[in-house]
Amino acid sequence: MFEHTELFERGVGSTTDIVEKEMYTFKDRGGRLITLRPEGTAPAVRAFVEHGLAGRPLPAKLYYMGPMFRYERPQAGRYRQFHQFGMEVIGAAGPEADAEVIAMPLEIFRAMGIQDVVVNLNSIGCPVCKPAYRERLRDAYAPVLDRLCTSCKSRYDRNPLRLLDCKSEECRAALPEPPTIFAQLCPECSAHFDALRRLLDKLGVGYVINPRLVRGLDYYTKTTFEYNVGGIGSQDAIGGGGRYDGLVEECGGPPTPGVGVACGMERCVLAAQANAADQEYQAGLDVFIVSLGDAAREKAFEMAHSMRRAGLAVDFDMIGRGLKAQMRYADKMRARFVAIIGDDELAAGEATVKDMSTGEQKRIAQAELATCVRRL
Ligand code: AMP
Repeated sequence: MFEHTELFERGVGSTTDIVEKEMYTFKDRGGRLITLRPEGTAPAVRAFVEHGLAGRPLPAKLYYMGPMFRYERPQAGRYRQFHQFGMEVIGAAGPEADAEVIAMPLEIFRAMGIQDVVVNLNSIGCPVCKPAYRERLRDAYAPVLDRLCTSCKSRYDRNPLRLLDCKSEECRAALPEPPTIFAQLCPECSAHFDALRRLLDKLGVGYVINPRLVRGLDYYTKTTFEYNVGGIGSQDAIGGGGRYDGLVEECGGPPTPGVGVACGMERCVLAAQANAADQEYQAGLDVFIVSLGDAAREKAFEMAHSMRRAGLAVDFDMIGRGLKAQMRYADKMRARFVAIIGDDELAAGEATVKDMSTGEQKRIAQAELATCVRRL
């Protein structure tokens, strides 16, 4: 949940918004400077190095999920504590790793019912070709320097790539169409990007090349990408990531390439809700056991537990409601089936099973109930 502040300063980069103004940093009782994690990649890489994963079979494929903290201006879709799930492939330099990392969250989005995700893709080069591109950007922006916003003025010297994704209106208006990096990429970065595009094409993953996509973290090399969706307001990125070939070494490990992705859970939920406005959720319960009388309730209790052990979602009445109230409750809980146990059923070792969608009813032996519900 928290790390030494230095990890983020070195890993994420001291000129990034996250490190400059968004970290919750404080001293612990031992006087150590610590920070609530604003992101998960630097901590994952720290753990990779600390636990000697570089000496184990590579690539290491890691995932995480949990809360992250950024002192940002809260608004819809942007919170100071939010949750991410993310994954990292560490120890694979080839574009197959990038392609898999880009494609996998798309499966998760699909499973969540999030539609029309746009994949924005870019390459920001490596230490061989990035410096020349930085210079080209400085040349392009020099004539408009006095019209840039305050943060961009300071970025101009320290991190000119960040000029590309400034959101301020005054900057957007002043900035000339920037030169793209593609003419500047070294042969290796260029070949990597071309191969990645071919692999994504093979997977049928559509993407938009967005030369302004530099992302707010300094550790990226080569590939950067982001997922955007409509219908959730201005904070429309539900995830993003990229390649970070220098980060393991920066964190004290052996030179090891890596690529990863992080997705925002709250924004995924917003996107799923926006897409699912008229879709009913699936039934919450497989079976609700309606019982009439104390002896039947005890039986219901026993059956609920054995059916849960069989992997079904089952509940029963534990507050002594009458038949009608139990049926209404089962309906509200969207139970797919109701199993009724009255005196008759109790004596016969059976239950009356009602299919809540068709209203059909039949008597079944209690011992057969789980198997029967599964089959239905
Ligand atoms: P980042 O690495 O900053 O691009 O973050 C990855 C994803 O986490 C973003 O695409 C968002 O979905 C989510 N995210 C980032 N910051 C916040 C925030 N303050 N509140 C909610 N979600 C966020």
